[in-house]
Amino acid sequence: MGEMGDVARPERLLPRFEGQDCKFCDEGELVREQYKGSPAVVCDECDVPQIRFF
Ligand SMILES: [Zn+2]
Repeated sequence: MGEMGDVARPERLLPRFEGQDCKFCDEGELVREQYKGSPAVVCDECDVPQIRFF
């Protein structure tokens, strides 16, 4: 038991976004971080969270 589909898990999804260019500024690159206690991908320049999990 407990093998619910893990496709939507942050630890599987977040690496796909890591290192991508930020959509909101020119120089930023996405890094994995905690945002308000949830796993997220945020820009290292403008700190805008682009992907969040709750
Ligand atoms: Zn940015």
